[in-house]
Amino acid sequence: MSSITVCARFRPLSSKEKRDHNDSICIHILDAGTLIFKDEKEEDHLFCFDRVFCQESEQSDVYEFLALPIIQDAVNAINGTILTYGQTGAGKTYSMEGPNILEGNEKKKGLLPRVVEGLFDCLRSSEKVYTVKLSMVEIYMEKVRDLFDLSKDNLQIKEDKIQGIYLSGVTEVSVLDPEEALQNLCNGIANRAVGETQMNMASSRSHCVYIFTIQQECTGERRLKTGKIILVDLAGSEKVEKTGAEGKVLEEAKTINKSLSALGNVINALTSGTPGKANHIPYRDSKLTRILQDALGGNSRTALLCCCSPSTLNASESLSTLRFGARAKHIKTSPRANYN
Ligand code: ADP
Repeated sequence: MSSITVCARFRPLSSKEKRDHNDSICIHILDAGTLIFKDEKEEDHLFCFDRVFCQESEQSDVYEFLALPIIQDAVNAINGTILTYGQTGAGKTYSMEGPNILEGNEKKKGLLPRVVEGLFDCLRSSEKVYTVKLSMVEIYMEKVRDLFDLSKDNLQIKEDKIQGIYLSGVTEVSVLDPEEALQNLCNGIANRAVGETQMNMASSRSHCVYIFTIQQECTGERRLKTGKIILVDLAGSEKVEKTGAEGKVLEEAKTINKSLSALGNVINALTSGTPGKANHIPYRDSKLTRILQDALGGNSRTALLCCCSPSTLNASESLSTLRFGARAKHIKTSPRANYN
């Protein structure tokens, strides 16, 4: 059994935070994995994670610590999942994509383009034959939309013994090199923006899921070895109900908060059971938890990046993000190779 890798990342203060709050910061980083967080009442909270990334941390630091081990495992048919969690504006998309996945800014590029390049580097150095397929979906108001084919706007989640949990009918694009993969991901991101305009919603209100399927042909065997890497840029975790939102925005907020609460409930159930006794885990309470069932419930190496603002202005949301990460740290998983 291994546990989920949980990291916290604090972005630099925004210009608004600097202007409105006099540069005051609510964290004190003690060492590579430990920090003290000062809440609004000036009380201290100690958090221990696998790694704390400070304002000066580079995108490459996050990639090397979180994603590189997952790529190496996925090539050996062990599933991996990386989640970015936090309030809107905390740095989830910056960490996941960077400013622009096609821009090629070496320093700023995020996990997604780095995973693409790292994966193909890893495959090129192997003598085995692999195929890589990509899918990209968005979960909004409990519907799973295919971002490679917007006509598929309500994909169903199914499960069988061979594939585990899968999205029935989802578009899978075969990609031969990093350029082709990045171009497809870029099209998916553009489709996401089109959908957002059509539905009048902000990307922060939906979960975006990137799925890489890596299949290895085993010569002399009729079986395939399959590893998956799932990257999830979660919707903003802030409590929108509190902000006085009304109508559609409030409905949206409730649904998002419901799926993130469902994620919290699954984490609670996974970490609070009596040892040796089967515990009911409510994966079916939301599309998000159902898609993440393998990642959370066992067969995946999983990493969670808790993104936070360092400003006292956002102290209560950051504290709730860090507490979410601290709970997730107690989940145990048992990743193993997949043959089908
Ligand atoms: P989220 O996806 O959580 O809503 P974003 O990733 O869009 O938040 O980040 C909000 C803003 O902060 C963006 O302008 C982004 O460029 C900036 N930002 C976030 N993280 C960092 C970072 N580590 N370094 C520099 N700028 C960052």
